Amino acid sequence: MSSLFDLTGKVAIVTGASTGLGQGMSIGLAEAGADLLLVDLVPSSETEQAILKLGRKAYSVVADLLNMNSIGLIVNSALEKYGRIDILVNNAGIIRRTPAIDFSEKDWDEVMQINAKSVFFLSQAVAKDMIKRKEGKIINIASLLSFQGGILVPSYTASKGAVAQITKALANEWAKYGLNINAIAPGYMATNNTKALREDPVRSKQILERIPAERWGTPDDLKGAVVFLSSHASDYVNGHVLVVDGGWLAR
Ligand code: NAD
Repeated sequence: MSSLFDLTGKVAIVTGASTGLGQGMSIGLAEAGADLLLVDLVPSSETEQAILKLGRKAYSVVADLLNMNSIGLIVNSALEKYGRIDILVNNAGIIRRTPAIDFSEKDWDEVMQINAKSVFFLSQAVAKDMIKRKEGKIINIASLLSFQGGILVPSYTASKGAVAQITKALANEWAKYGLNINAIAPGYMATNNTKALREDPVRSKQILERIPAERWGTPDDLKGAVVFLSSHASDYVNGHVLVVDGGWLAR
């Protein structure tokens, strides 16, 4: 059974890999045997060191997903270093908090570019290599706000709704080529992304009270889900959004 989840010899790209959930998932993939290309706005040095210590390969690529030229740079770097791409985790994401009535066009556009548009076009670029080889795993990081409206984060909610739908659209077109496109929807996880919420005593108490597991999630909590969706264990799972939320949506 353990061989179903074995990623030895597989090459994974993870975006937003320097910290938070991307760092946790990168280390989880390496623990399962994968070699990594770590993409972020800043060098992913800490993540790279942790992976090298595990005896796997890791390269850090600095790229800004606000800029569409980054897509080619990322794919070319992976192909140059490893010659193939088996797994893509579209994890990089940003959030902007402002009441909808005052929300700026800049905050709308930047969030949609990084959280949704780059997810689609990086998937498209990577799929060109995967389709040739008739296998590949793409995992998009969605959110509880792929299902719920959220508060004060309208562009984030729109972008994460799009992530869930892009996941299904790509699965419909590419499953026949042996690709699996799925998403993980994390619940409330303790990372930089949720710092403002955790520092707000009222919101943090409200959030914690609703989580059946009675704790915030951690980057380690996504390791099992990302390894499952990256491995042969999920070969017949397509277009699924796997919620990892300590039970939030069940309440
Ligand atoms: P984080 O802010 O800790 O990490 C996000 C990473 O993305 C950072 O390393 C950042 O440098 C990188 N990034 C941001 N803009 C970028 C750009 N233009 N180009 C390249 N990289 C860029 O947040 P996180 O909580 O680890 O979030 C990871 C993903 O999980 C995001 O898509 C987020 O929306 C999603 N998510 C987080 C939570 C949560 O509770 N933390 C819940 C649901 C979904």
